[in-house]
Amino acid sequence: MTQLPDNQPPQTQTAQTNRHSLPADATAAITIAVIGDVHDRWDADDAIALNHLGVDLVLLVGDFGNESVEVVRAIAALEIPKAAVLGNHDAWYSATEWGIKKCPYDRTKEDRVQQQLDLLGETHVGYGKLDFPELNLTVVGSRPFSWGGSEWKNTDAFYRSRYGINSFAESTERIVQAASSSTLDTVIFLGHCGPKGLGDRAEDTCGKDWSPPGGDHGDPDFADAIEATRKLGKTVPLVAFGHMHHQLRHTRQHQRVPLVATNGTIYLNAASVPRIVKTDTNCLRNFSLVSLQAGSVAQASIVWLDQDMTLVSETVLYRNQAFSSQPHQSYEAIV
Ligand SMILES: [Zn+2]
Repeated sequence: MTQLPDNQPPQTQTAQTNRHSLPADATAAITIAVIGDVHDRWDADDAIALNHLGVDLVLLVGDFGNESVEVVRAIAALEIPKAAVLGNHDAWYSATEWGIKKCPYDRTKEDRVQQQLDLLGETHVGYGKLDFPELNLTVVGSRPFSWGGSEWKNTDAFYRSRYGINSFAESTERIVQAASSSTLDTVIFLGHCGPKGLGDRAEDTCGKDWSPPGGDHGDPDFADAIEATRKLGKTVPLVAFGHMHHQLRHTRQHQRVPLVATNGTIYLNAASVPRIVKTDTNCLRNFSLVSLQAGSVAQASIVWLDQDMTLVSETVLYRNQAFSSQPHQSYEAIV
């Protein structure tokens, strides 16, 4: 199984901290679980696992399925503070002419995109924000349903009719509006595709890994919105997203770079897909875990739990030495 690194001994210290605890003060650590592209792999054990990990906040990057309303219904019922952004697969039969032609249901009778938005309610932060004053942060969503890349026209009609947005510039403005509407100064950004600017090799965090491989497939409006939000005086410790799977399409020799740390911000691609893997004797599921302390990311890792909720693997992607006496482990050295 390629997702489980065989050079990492199981470690449990991260999983055992902060269980069911909200921070008593601004310096206490909080644990955030980022859930990568679900693609219909979600079950009742996910809620048990998240409670077991002592998660304070769940961030979901979308692609729950191809307009899989029932998966979204199950996720909406999750009783842990959460925020989500829907992905391109969540509008698979509604956003492009190609998708509409293949739609398996009668679009004149139901709108499954809207059904998903209604189920998530305020939890869906795409082009919006959700304040978590008890955690001293707000989660701001970038453009929902993103396909990634710097071409606007493919989904032009979709964004115009649903959101009244006609360009990347208008999209940026909408995201910044959401960020500026919060009184909280710590902003966590949540997107489906990540922002442009994280590298243009195929294996980079949002790199294009299909033919011909290479090029930055990140969202330009997302990148501009993050920059503008910093200029508002906000702190941005974490930008979480998915869409560009860790398993590369053009090679099996290595995996995508899942994390970039720059300018005090951790950019985390959580798309470790498939996120649930069933073997003959077990069932393994992954989460990206981020520990936030005093408004900064202290550690980010990918963990795999088995069906007994035992932590079987933890790959540390980033560790801030200011919060740890343990030696820093560079993300380039692993995965
Ligand atoms: Zn996607």
